[in-house]
Order: sequence, then C-alpha cells, then structure tokens
Amino acid sequence: MRLYDTARKSVVDLELDEAVGMYVCGITPYDATHLGHAATYLAYDLLIRRLEDLGHTVTMVRNYTDVDDSILPKAAELGEHYLSLAEREIDRFEADMAALGARPAAHEPRATQSIDAMIEMISELVDAGHAYVSGDRVFFDVTTFPAFGKLSGYGREQMTALAAERGGAPDDPRQRNPLDFVLWQASAAGEPSWPSPFGPGRPGWHIECSAMGHAALGVTMDIHGGGGDLIFPHHECEIAQSESISGAPLARYWVHAGLVSYQGHKMSKSLGNLVFISDLRSRIDPRAIRLALMAHHYRSEWEWFDSEGLAAQRDLDTLVGTASGMQQQGELTHVSSGLVADVQAVLDDDLDAPAARAALLDAAATIERGAAGTVLRSELAASAALCGIDLRHPPVAGTP
Ligand code: ZN
Repeated sequence: MRLYDTARKSVVDLELDEAVGMYVCGITPYDATHLGHAATYLAYDLLIRRLEDLGHTVTMVRNYTDVDDSILPKAAELGEHYLSLAEREIDRFEADMAALGARPAAHEPRATQSIDAMIEMISELVDAGHAYVSGDRVFFDVTTFPAFGKLSGYGREQMTALAAERGGAPDDPRQRNPLDFVLWQASAAGEPSWPSPFGPGRPGWHIECSAMGHAALGVTMDIHGGGGDLIFPHHECEIAQSESISGAPLARYWVHAGLVSYQGHKMSKSLGNLVFISDLRSRIDPRAIRLALMAHHYRSEWEWFDSEGLAAQRDLDTLVGTASGMQQQGELTHVSSGLVADVQAVLDDDLDAPAARAALLDAAATIERGAAGTVLRSELAASAALCGIDLRHPPVAGTP
C-alpha cells in the first residue's frame, strides 16, 4: 500500500509489521461532531479497514482533549462543569461515529486522566534543558530542537504567524523565543488545577498528546494523524517534545486529512456554518454520508454542498437495491468481475476513495443494465463493505 507521508512530502510505500500502532488526534469535546471531523476520522477508518484487510492488526488510539483553552470557556459560558460538558459531547461523538460505521478506537485516553504522565514529561524536558520555567508557566525552548519545523517545512515567519492564529502567543514577554510554546500554565480563576513541581496549574495542549500517545503506543508509533490544521503547531510541537526526550522518531508516517469548507466558506465555529453530523443523519442515511465523503480524496481541501447529501442518498439507494436484487436469469454467478481487487488496488493508491466510489457505482450500473454475469452482486456488497458501507443491513437506528 502507498500513502502520502506529510514528513517526506511524497507518496511512499508503507512498510509495516503485522501489528500497527496508530494515533489520531481526537476532539475537544465541547461541541457536536461536524462534517470536518467525520471526513477526517472516516479517512483513518478507511485506512484501518484496508490495513486489516491486508492482514494487519491495527491498534488505533484516539484521545479526548477534555481540558484545554476551548472547553473551559465554553463550560463557563454554559455555567456547567467542564467534565459534564465533555461527558455529554463524548457520548454524542461516539453515537455519531457508530452511526457512520466507524471502527471503535482501541484506546480513548482522556487528557484529565493522564496529567501525571504529562508532568513527568515536562519534568524530564526541564531537567534536560529543553524547557524553562518563566513566571507561572513552563515553556519549551525551540532553540534546543534545531529540527523544529521539519514536519511542516514552514519557515520561521510562517510558523510565527500560524502560531498566533492557532492558540499560541508569540508576543508573550515570558517566552524567550516567539515560537516557544506552553507546556504548563497556571490556571485562571475557576479553571481546574493540578499540583505540580512548577506550581499548581494545567497542561498545555501539545504535551497532552505526546504523553497520551507515548503511554498507549510507546516511543515510536507507526502512523500519526489528524486534520491538516494540526500539522503546525500541534504536531510540530509534539515532535519537538517527544523526540527531545526519546531521541527517536515520534512516528514512522504522518498522515493528514484536508479541511472541509461549506458552500463557499471555511467551515468554522466563528462563522456559525458548521454542518453537524447529527443534523445530517436525521435527514439522510449515515451510509449516504459516508458515500458522499468518499467523493472527495482525503487529502484534498473541498467544499460541502447540501445537494451532495441528497445525491449520495440516491446513489446509496441504487447500491442497496442492486446488491440485494435477485440474481437475474442468464446472469453468470461463477465469474469474478475483479471488482473487489479493483477497489483494493485504488485504496492502496493513497486511499483513492473517489475511485473506489466510482467503481461501486459503475458496477451497480453494469448489473442494472443486465450486462452482469461478470459483476456479481455479492462482489458489490463485499467491495462496499471494504469501504465501511454495509449494503445488506441498514444502520441500527440511534437517536441523533
Ligand atoms: Zn493531538
């Protein structure tokens, strides 16, 4: 199988042992699952399904960032304890993922349950001179990690601008360098706080994933992924922290999913145009959502239009009808069409879901034209199942 590796900036042959460890950055559980989340997590789901099909055992770890700079203000705004907000949103996320047919994660560590491991890593970084205490914060000193920026390939200026945009504070006078980032910080009034050698407080976001990933998958994981907006600063910072301690690569392959826009605009909380999975699946079959997402390559940046959902529902109905149809007279039942092998081949080519989707629809059209015999209904169902779409069984209804 070949896959695009963000670090090498090219499509490479995946060289994996039978057991594969994969860490996918999870959600901050403070709002409902939207289409961008679904696109990202279903891309990894498709990857896992094909790796399992190839005989690998995949351990996928996906964390919950249940304490960070996003969930605390939202909980305060709602007048609710942040962990009860997290609990509710985790339940909704899991219901959405199950409805979409996503394979469950092997481990779902929560940041608040891994604080000791984070403090231990920060202490090691301070002791080794990679981090320093300044005021009521601990920062990572990027000058001690010359390879900083190797994943993204971004220059200093671009990294500084992106850091300011994505939660960093390059102008903070407590930092020695603009790109230094927070490992530990004093909590504001009303925020949760844990005791530590650096004073009471809470962890920075990046150290959370380094600690949880290390605990679940060891020093070097096979595949690390997340949405494309995590390449910098999140994953770059994870690399700096983890590799400064271990001296070994954090991940063998880096895989990132493209960002989704909505009808001409960036899909974002601030624009109020998030397309929530719970809304979508109250109108169309969740398998149709999956089929619609397959129309877009996981690495591309693309736009969702509401019309796509309805078109995908029609396509799904066609596939379901064809797969469950009775064998017609004259249809050969013993000749393999090669459909399954075709779908496997396009998935092995950097997870080309659009080509897999086209192959499924072409096969259905061929059967419906009566030109079957070469394409068997069971092969259609098997190929769709490989893509996570069960044509023979409607999803178990869950309350969106
Ligand atoms: Zn992460």
